[in-house]
Formats: sequence, structure tokens, C-alpha cells
Amino acid sequence: LIRATGLRKSFGPTEALRGIDLDIDRGEVVAVMGPSGSGKSTLIHCLAGVLTPDAGDVTINGTELGRLDADARARLRLKEIGFVFQFGQLLPDLTAVDNVALPLLMGGASRRAARAESYAWLERLGLGDQGDKFPGQMSGGQAQRVAIARALATRPTVLFADEPTGSLDSVAAESVLETMLDVVREARTTVLLITHDPRTAAYADREVIVRDGRLSGSALVGRS
Ligand code: ATP
Ligand code: MG
Repeated sequence: LIRATGLRKSFGPTEALRGIDLDIDRGEVVAVMGPSGSGKSTLIHCLAGVLTPDAGDVTINGTELGRLDADARARLRLKEIGFVFQFGQLLPDLTAVDNVALPLLMGGASRRAARAESYAWLERLGLGDQGDKFPGQMSGGQAQRVAIARALATRPTVLFADEPTGSLDSVAAESVLETMLDVVREARTTVLLITHDPRTAAYADREVIVRDGRLSGSALVGRS
């Protein structure tokens, strides 16, 4: 479903990605691990079309991202891709429920339906009573769960999640992760999940390790 070939990306003198090839099947849940600064976030930003690689191609569901103009890429993202970023991702001037509802509205849902569905997603992530708060009034872990709700709400074909449970304690992380994986397994969503936590990675079908901008290993791990 996702195929990357020869991906390279530099930021000035820093070679963040030095030639990455990766194939991911539909419905696969892949954990991306590796040291800090090794290129994990850069990799999934390139795969999601958020960053343009300097070289190499990314194909998602048969569409080569590099062939699309910015508009078409944005439309593809809205339709097929959910993204939970590592840092600051909620719109600060919208309440939690409106943050979740935004992509649904952009996808053509009515305001009423979008809000109802968004409350249901927040509920599912344990934020039933937080919907009317603004991101600045929430804890880091709550905001992160709102971002997960927003990504799941669009029922994406592919979900990219950059340390989605990084600011949760281990008990909350496990429960959020289980909710997220229930949803994606049921929908056969393809998932790339960056994590530093081996226990989180154990939920994946496969683990890939990024080191110095290259894939250094890939293992099938048991589904727990
Ligand atoms: P972490 O686990 O700490 O999140 P990471 O594996 O996600 O790390 P990346 O964010 O992909 O690492 O960064 C890879 C390299 O590229 C690092 O050396 C980083 O400093 C550099 N880098 C990333 N984004 C930028 C940017 N926008 N401008 C300049 N350098 C960048
Ligand atoms: Mg990162």
C-alpha cells in the first residue's frame, strides 16, 4: 500500500534520510524505532507528503506523491491519511471538539453530524467531558488524545503517528494505544507508529529501525 524507494532528505548540511526503501502492506501495523535524531519523524513526514524528499519516490495506494501538485496532495491527505504529529498540532483557537470536527467538515460533513461524531470519538478516548476546552486548557496527554481522536475520525487508509502516547503515563498510554489499535485493526487501517517504547512496538506486526537516516533492521514481531 505504501512504497518508498531511495528516499533522501537533507536539512542544510544534515542528511536526515540517506536512502530509504520501504514497503508496507495494507492493514499492516509497523513500529518505527531508532535513536533520537536518526530520521524517524523526517521519514514519516516524507511518507505522508508533509515534507518533499530531495530524492526518491513515495507511492500511496497507487498514487505517486511526487506527481501531484500541492492541491492534489492536500486532497489526498484529507481523504486517505491521518497524522498524529510529535509536537503542537491542535489549533489553539478551536475547542477540542471543533479540532476533531474540522477535517470532517472539510470532508463535507454537516456541522451537526461532525460535532456529534467528534464527541463520540473524544468519549472513546476518555475525554467525554473535555470537548469544550481549548487546547491551552488541557494537559499534554489530553491534547495528544484529542489529536488521536482527530486522526481516527476521518477513518484514514493510512495512519501516521509520531510518538502518539509520548506524553502519557504508561497506564494511560496502554489504554489509548489499545483503543487506537482496536479502531485500526477493525478498519484494516495501515499504521506507521514511531515509538521509543519496546512495549508499544510489541503491538505492531513489524518493527523497522532507523539509524543515521537508513533502515538498519526490520523484524517481524509477534502480535500481542
Ligand atoms: P526524535 O526521536 O528525537 O524525535 P527523529 O528520529 O524523529 O528524532 P528527525 O526529527 O527525523 O529525528 O531528525 C533527523 C535529523 O534531521 C536530526 O539531525 C534533526 O536535527 C534534523 N532535522 C529535522 N528537521 C529539521 C529541520 N526542519 N531543520 C533542520 N534540521 C532538521
Ligand atoms: Mg521525531
